Amino acid sequence: MDLALSPQDEAFRDEVRRFLAESLTEDLREAGRKTAGVFADFAAGLRWHKVLAGRGWSAPTWPKEYGGTGWNATQRYIFARECIAADAPRIFSMGIRMVGPVIQKFGTPEQKAKYLPGIVSGDIVFCQGYSEPGSGSDLASLKTRAVRDGDDYVIDGTKIWTTGAHVANHMFCLVRTSSEGKPQEGISFVLLDSMDLPGLSVKPIVTLAGDHEVNQVFFDGVRTPVANRIGPENDGWTVAKYLLEFERGGDAYTPNLYARIEDVRRIAREEAADGAGRLIDDRGFAERLAEAEMAAQALEMIEMQVLSDLSRGRNPGAISSAMKIRGSETLQMLDHLGVEALAWYAAPFEPEARELGHNEPTVTPEWGITALPLYLNNRAATIYAGSNEIQRNIIAKAVLGL
Ligand SMILES: Cc1cc2nc3c(=O)[nH]c(=O)nc-3n(C[C@H](O)[C@H](O)[C@H](O)COP(=O)(O)OP(=O)(O)OC[C@H]3O[C@@H](n4cnc5c(N)ncnc54)[C@H](O)[C@@H]3O)c2cc1C
Repeated sequence: MDLALSPQDEAFRDEVRRFLAESLTEDLREAGRKTAGVFADFAAGLRWHKVLAGRGWSAPTWPKEYGGTGWNATQRYIFARECIAADAPRIFSMGIRMVGPVIQKFGTPEQKAKYLPGIVSGDIVFCQGYSEPGSGSDLASLKTRAVRDGDDYVIDGTKIWTTGAHVANHMFCLVRTSSEGKPQEGISFVLLDSMDLPGLSVKPIVTLAGDHEVNQVFFDGVRTPVANRIGPENDGWTVAKYLLEFERGGDAYTPNLYARIEDVRRIAREEAADGAGRLIDDRGFAERLAEAEMAAQALEMIEMQVLSDLSRGRNPGAISSAMKIRGSETLQMLDHLGVEALAWYAAPFEPEARELGHNEPTVTPEWGITALPLYLNNRAATIYAGSNEIQRNIIAKAVLGL
């Protein structure tokens, strides 16, 4: 595979660089640098989303007819790499990455008109209501019920680990509309048009690193119109599975991995090895960093293939499970190296240092303040979007035919 950029790609990369240099203010870059979870500070991410929307670049993976860029695979990849290299904040992207492609495929013309423009502009922010206490890996066992009452569904139950439920203004949600037949056959995929609906409440779950990203959501007679159902009643499982392919494989992992490699390299250039000399010159450490870099490069090849399929309108398929496994495990490998390189400087608990605008002295050097929070928060990377064990089961069945 020839990975050298063509002159047109180089011109595109330069255009992206110019745009980023002009549009990324220092406070937005600070939000990018201080990200210690999946997404940047929500307000900063939303501001950046709106800047991108103004340029027509907020939906890099969408076709033009829905407000996307219509970029090819290489352009998407260049854009993702340049954004991360310039410290752009990672936007809260469950609309763009997950439910947007689902609405494009399964939505009615009315649903497309109602939701897609708002997702592109950043005015509609979706969170994902799939998991429940007791229904994570075994998602089809979910119990949150939706009962029809006139033109509405009335929803009762609870969702858990809902990332960003406290900042989103919409939710896509799996609900049980029938108890007949197999569990998969009684599920419907519905949208909620507000997170302030009567009977809906959101309870925060704070992570070990002190961050609030996930929540438990409770439904007590929450109403949503039947017209907000995507796909047929009791066939939400088909819609849900299609979305999961995009959740696991609809984005490039490697730009983030390469950025983390640079972070670790920077720490290792500053820190001393046991004995003497710089850690970066320690052979054992350098070998492990090289191992992570090779894993990222191998993943990059698969990603280019998948991005190319996406730009031809094909969904990622089971390969997204392999990407998810390799991407999350390499990320954790790098987090581990980052903490190891910082040694005792990783230990102080200084969450205030990650607040935007914070300019007091810190015990941990400025370039190390996200190392431990990343290590802790990214433990979840092998669990969310379907645990890695479940991804291995999918590969065994769908790819290897076992
Ligand atoms: C930080 C974070 C953010 C999340 N965000 C969201 C969100 O926004 N929306 C949402 O709906 N959900 C979200 N989730 C939930 C996530 O999808 C689930 O945690 C995940 O699917 C695992 O389910 P569980 O936690 O119930 O674990 P369980 O399903 O109880 O699994 C426990 C352990 O058993 C293993 N296991 C289970 N079944 C099998 C099997 N058949 N074969 C082999 N091993 C198995 C699992 O791999 C895991 O190690 C998030 C989770 C985290 C941690």
